[in-house]
Amino acid sequence: MAKVSIGLRGWRFEEDEIFTDDEELKPLDEIPEDPRERLLRLVSLVEEPCDVCYLEHGDEEIRRCNEAEIVYGEPDGEVLLCPEHEPDLLYWFREAGGSDHKGSVEFADRFHEWVAAGNEAPEGYASVEHVEEDPDGLPDLPDQQEVQERLEEDFDGDRIDILELAGQERSDEELTEEELADSDLDLSTDYPSGR
Ligand SMILES: [Zn+2]
Repeated sequence: MAKVSIGLRGWRFEEDEIFTDDEELKPLDEIPEDPRERLLRLVSLVEEPCDVCYLEHGDEEIRRCNEAEIVYGEPDGEVLLCPEHEPDLLYWFREAGGSDHKGSVEFADRFHEWVAAGNEAPEGYASVEHVEEDPDGLPDLPDQQEVQERLEEDFDGDRIDILELAGQERSDEELTEEELADSDLDLSTDYPSGR
């Protein structure tokens, strides 16, 4: 089974867990829970800045931050990195105790503290051997619109939970009158589950 990264390098998915044989995104309710959670989280992470750049420049100078290309850690405790700052994460993980936090949602906080304390990888610290992966060959992440449509097709009753899972807050502009009407319908039809 092939593993693929999508959108950002780092998190890897079993290709056949998330794509159909035609390389279309599967309906979300056919995707196992863990990859689904990562997938939804990823959608909210693309186009975010690198964490280390952000710690350096802050909100005022956010334009100087590189867009993240790499994600490490667990959903909601993930670290986003640009290629320039990836060695810092690798050094912290391998040489400075970072691996103790593997699999924990504290992972990102501990790394951020380490960076904020002025630490970085030594000059010339090796970047990852980019495991037979061609960054330009990464499949694109399905866009927010497509995922949104999937959510509405597949998760009528669970819609809100899934959006929370993805760390998305529905803004007012996105909530059209039509959707409001739909959600009224959901109130009467989709809540009996579990009662
Ligand atoms: Zn950076």
